[in-house]
Amino acid sequence: MPREPVTAFVSLGANLGDALETVLAAVQDVARLPDTELTGCSRFYRTAPHEASGPDFINAVVCLATRLTAPHLLQALQQLELEAGRERPYVNAPRTLDLDVLLYGESCIDSPRLTVPHPRMWARAFVLYPLADLAPERVSAEILASMANQPVQPLALA
Ligand code: ADP
Ligand code: MG
Repeated sequence: MPREPVTAFVSLGANLGDALETVLAAVQDVARLPDTELTGCSRFYRTAPHEASGPDFINAVVCLATRLTAPHLLQALQQLELEAGRERPYVNAPRTLDLDVLLYGESCIDSPRLTVPHPRMWARAFVLYPLADLAPERVSAEILASMANQPVQPLALA
């Protein structure tokens, strides 16, 4: 276990059932992970499916201070995905929740189960817009501008 907490960014996405409720609940669940503190949450976004099908997604990014190792963090997130999956409307329905480790401190990890920084994050507006809410220094204006073809809509939450 790392001695000092590590700053990690995790993306959340859902597009089945009550996606907004799923992502709101997932933020609470991530905040309750052991040895982990929630230190920030982006705005929520409604996004059209990108390389996926079905209804619009709800996406957000959270910032964590965690003493979990990166593989343990991934394992804990996958457990939350499974628990959200129990609400699937039918057997083998698509997952209701996707949780990805975007960044884990300054670490570069390339193992069969875990790649950090997340290899596809730089091509996904639904990741980069919420990440820029929390860590604008990690997302250049140029890369955000290059995402103009992927519509993302910040939600106004009461
Ligand atoms: P995606 O999130 O790209 O849509 P999945 O959620 O289906 O795809 O993830 C597939 C696999 O990606 C997982 O089983 C996991 O082991 C692996 N993976 C590799 N790097 C990461 C990461 N940084 N965050 C989450 N999963 C990752
Ligand atoms: Mg995933």
